[in-house]
Amino acid sequence: MKIDNLRLGFATNSSSKHSVIIFQDGHDHKDDLIETRGEMYGWEKFVLAGKESKKRYLAQQLNETLKENFNQNVVDAIIKDLLGIKPDAQGYIDHQSRWGFPTAWPDNTQLNPHNIICGIDHEYVMDMKKYLYDSRLVIFGGNDNEEGSKYDGPGERVSDWLKHEQDDLVARKEGSWWILFNQVSGAKTVLSFKDNPEKRIRAETPELVDISITDYCNKGCDYCYKSSTKQGEHAKLDDIYYIAEQLKDMKVFEVAIGGGEPTAHPDFLKILKIFRNSGIVPSFSTGSISWLRDSRCMEIIDTCGAFAYSMGRKDKLQQFTTALVYHYIPLNKAYVHIPMGTITNNSFKQLLLDVERFGLSNIVLLGYKRVGRGAQLLNRVGYKEYYPYKDWLAKILRKNSRLNISFDTVLISEMQKDLTKIGTPRMLMHTMEGETSMYVDAVSLQVGPSSFQPDLLKPFQQHDRNSLRSIWDSMDRVSV
Ligand code: SF4
Repeated sequence: MKIDNLRLGFATNSSSKHSVIIFQDGHDHKDDLIETRGEMYGWEKFVLAGKESKKRYLAQQLNETLKENFNQNVVDAIIKDLLGIKPDAQGYIDHQSRWGFPTAWPDNTQLNPHNIICGIDHEYVMDMKKYLYDSRLVIFGGNDNEEGSKYDGPGERVSDWLKHEQDDLVARKEGSWWILFNQVSGAKTVLSFKDNPEKRIRAETPELVDISITDYCNKGCDYCYKSSTKQGEHAKLDDIYYIAEQLKDMKVFEVAIGGGEPTAHPDFLKILKIFRNSGIVPSFSTGSISWLRDSRCMEIIDTCGAFAYSMGRKDKLQQFTTALVYHYIPLNKAYVHIPMGTITNNSFKQLLLDVERFGLSNIVLLGYKRVGRGAQLLNRVGYKEYYPYKDWLAKILRKNSRLNISFDTVLISEMQKDLTKIGTPRMLMHTMEGETSMYVDAVSLQVGPSSFQPDLLKPFQQHDRNSLRSIWDSMDRVSV
């Protein structure tokens, strides 16, 4: 198994009690210590090395997932069709060791009868089955609390990559790679069940689309790289419908809605629903808290995957968090965006303390964008106290490991060495745009690799269902 890419969302996977180990060289494991009282895979020790025992374990894993939605007769029929055996209706898998199976993507052009019947992705199960039957792979059971029970030898542990939260897991397959996206937590994993899959350079279609729905904003920030103003126009609702159709065709997992100020769009909630109803998770970033006082606030929260409050140097975190608490907004959906270069060293330290104090934990740090008004501000006298964040940022982050802090491509590109030094895994660091994501400006009807590379934008036809796809196909990935 190869893991190419991982993006942690609002939650991370926890370890499994059962260990799935792949051995590179010959090994002498045989089935051992399997209890005879049915398919009970709990805290007992066991070793599953033979094809038949691993098949029964997989049947039990599928049973755990399918019984949530079907009666046992239907579950038995589905598993018999997939594996040739029935599961043990009385058996179980320890809840910390259950694997997730992605829901089949509703695809109008390649309907697979298996997917329609069982709801889970048939091809994913078939790939996983082939992988598990590999004679190098062994499954170990045991109780973490007993000494010597955990497997602790040579071999690659793959159990954590098979374990996903079951609810709302969807997947796309590209070549021999699987891209798994959790629509609730936002976690994304890219894995292949092959030992030597082809190198994955660029996604076949975007996984994420950054979409601007308005040029309007009344804040007038002097560092605004979009140069948004009170005179800015909103995107037309019809155009958003057409764009959502095109993104749905491309099996885009999620959109990050921005502006300008997206919540100022008169059809903001409708826009969130258009994407949600297209099977795409909409999140948004905002510099406003007035939408929290809107009567439709809870509908907005329920419809979106997450939302981010962009903190400029004039903004008050306390106002934002007070509004969240006052309106009973779940804090795990709230992110804080901090555009670096707009805040001094001391204010940044204080902000991190405040984020923790107010019960928030998700922070995204954005590199400074040298376009729009952002380009003009950089040249002004006195700005030097904000901009040299590279000199102090890594030092501060090292001391604040409790917060869930992530970075955009611009910041990673500027600080890759420093981020590596403080232990940021390589697979979390992306420095290319147009690789797995693209930007759509729904106001000017232009598309490009990112929102901060205006020279690379190209016009698209909103009525042509293949327009975005053909631009994506011809687009090069670019470093920032
Ligand atoms: S940076 Fe954000 S909040 Fe500030 S003017 Fe631009 S869009 Fe508005």
